Amino acid sequence: RTEAYFPDREVDSVCPYCGVGCQLTYNVKDDKLLYVTGKAGPANESRLCVKGRFGFDYVSNPQRLTQPLVRKDGVPKRADDLVDPANPWTHFRVATWEEAMERAAAGLVKVRDRDGPRALAGFGSAKGSNEEAYLFQKLVRTGFGSNNVDHCTRLCHASSVAALLEGVGSAAVTATFNECKNSDVIVVIGANPTENHPVAATFFKQAAKRGTKLIIMDPRGTAMKRHAWKMMQFKNGTDVAMLNGLLNVIITEKLYDQQYVQTYTEDFEKLAESVKPFTPEEMSPICGIEPDVLREVARTFARAESAIIFWGMGVSQHTHGTDNARCLIALSLICGQVGRPGTGLHPLRGQNNVQGASDAGLIPMFFPDYKSVENSEIRAKYEAAWGVTLDPKRGKTVVEIMDAIHADEIKGMYIMGENPAMSDPDLNHARGALAHLEHLVVQDIFLTETASYADVILPASAWPEKNGTVTNTNRQVQMGRAAIPLPGEARQDLWIIQDLAQRIGCDWNYTDVSQVFTEMSSLMPALANISWDRVAREDHVTYPVDGPDVSGRDVVFDKGFPREGGVAKLVATRYTAPDEVPDAEYPFILSTGRQLEHWHTGSMTRRATVLDALEPTAIAQLSRGTISKLGIQPGDMVRVSTRRGTVSLAARQDDAVPDGVVFIPFAYVEAAANLLTNPALDPFGKIPEFKFCAAKVERDEPI
Ligand code: SF4
Repeated sequence: RTEAYFPDREVDSVCPYCGVGCQLTYNVKDDKLLYVTGKAGPANESRLCVKGRFGFDYVSNPQRLTQPLVRKDGVPKRADDLVDPANPWTHFRVATWEEAMERAAAGLVKVRDRDGPRALAGFGSAKGSNEEAYLFQKLVRTGFGSNNVDHCTRLCHASSVAALLEGVGSAAVTATFNECKNSDVIVVIGANPTENHPVAATFFKQAAKRGTKLIIMDPRGTAMKRHAWKMMQFKNGTDVAMLNGLLNVIITEKLYDQQYVQTYTEDFEKLAESVKPFTPEEMSPICGIEPDVLREVARTFARAESAIIFWGMGVSQHTHGTDNARCLIALSLICGQVGRPGTGLHPLRGQNNVQGASDAGLIPMFFPDYKSVENSEIRAKYEAAWGVTLDPKRGKTVVEIMDAIHADEIKGMYIMGENPAMSDPDLNHARGALAHLEHLVVQDIFLTETASYADVILPASAWPEKNGTVTNTNRQVQMGRAAIPLPGEARQDLWIIQDLAQRIGCDWNYTDVSQVFTEMSSLMPALANISWDRVAREDHVTYPVDGPDVSGRDVVFDKGFPREGGVAKLVATRYTAPDEVPDAEYPFILSTGRQLEHWHTGSMTRRATVLDALEPTAIAQLSRGTISKLGIQPGDMVRVSTRRGTVSLAARQDDAVPDGVVFIPFAYVEAAANLLTNPALDPFGKIPEFKFCAAKVERDEPI
């Protein structure tokens, strides 16, 4: 090793990718990131996956935005006109910060004053800090004047949040994932942690090696099945049938915890009555799991001393996503598998700060801490704190906002760090909406697909360039620290938000990020006893925490739930088919998701050298049987179509995928999976059905 490879500084921070929230150390030389090492954080114990360890050089990619851009006069916006980020000059020109901010603010004010506050909307980001999320939602609520604010939680766990708030009165996990070390049984359903929460997966595998019974429930035979005591590969979209089959066995055979049910739950009778007809024999043909297996798993789960359930977007991204989560909550509660070591309910959160951004109120129905915007008493508290009159009506969600743009109800938007032109379902519709906006301000580190439709583009800060807190899937509030300077004229997101807020009439004068944290936590009882200084000193604090000098609680709800009477609610569900089922014209099932090397819409990881070298090409994962039936070889091109669009991409043989199913990662703009997906929504969480729609797969003949 030469001198060039020795860092001159080490800066401790948190991984910018998934919700596991691994702590890491940036090793810096001459203000550049040299390499990254794992730090002994509570979630990762020094481990990192390939993204955390090698996916950091996106920050110095030549495509970083370093100057504000404004749309050139006379260049129209068209839904099918994506700008080449390497050559934005076809559509944009450089502006000074003053010109860009004035133009950004003037367009928003014009719409607000002419068409009313609800004609504006904002998408914040789960990739920024808690402080940024808090300020962003405050800007929309107090500066725009409506609750039209949302972010990508709507596309990942909104249904889980709806079910958890209804069932146990809290939207966060009841136990950290590390609690699996104390579990006799671990259930992982609708999740592929090896790819999506890789460091969490290592803890599950270690527990399995020590003898814990690992039960995997998934339509795909995920990599974790090698470690499983039982793999239940149920048919896509039949979660409710399978889970009701389990509930039927547990209740019929009186395996449930009668004392726990009596003390800590309500509506057990309704649940018991509802699941009576859902015998294993009735549910088996629907879900594809043998009755004996349903019985064996139900008995094992119910009799376990301690059992914990983890779930991912295979559960949540359905039109019945909330029902799926309700079933899991009921399963856990009737067996008394909550509130003790090794037990719990844990939706594995996706983005690095999706828990924190949701907690901070970046959602249209809640102020910070999940306080309803429609409750006048609560609203009065926030009006007093923020010094304005607030909109009493809940705002629109992500997909509803796109519909409202097409209906000319919403005409201006501010989008910070989100990429709906890649992440929304039915992209032709979503891109058409973005192109239809009268005024769009995009704040980001790259010229994303969404920025193609912008009137003003504001160059922002990457995660290793900023100070701020983030909250991971375990409820651990952790400190991110700036390791390197901002490139060119790029600015801190926090100060861009404040500048814009001031220009549209807000009287804000924050001078330090810690002031934002202090204001935010004063409005969030969940963050009691957590100060900025404490997080800076301890690197992480788990909420809830009972005092300034004690540790936070890894397991909650040992003595009841934060609902009226302290009891949790059991909610009965019925199996309903997905919104769009295969037919003669579209005989396949399309499911979408992520892969290990790429994150979300790929805006960062496809600009990270190692990650993009590992997975450079858009792929469709197909079973050996499907590949053979199509008469193609792995690597050949296939055309995948749905009623909404067509993409062409390389076939990859993956025997984890069942016959008749095609799985496409959604990170690739050249074959964007979301051109195909169905925007039908879960009625409670308003989450689209990314995990199921009818599709056609054909050999793509070379031109
Ligand atoms: Fe980052 Fe998630 Fe990988 Fe940890 S598991 S290093 S948080 S991407």
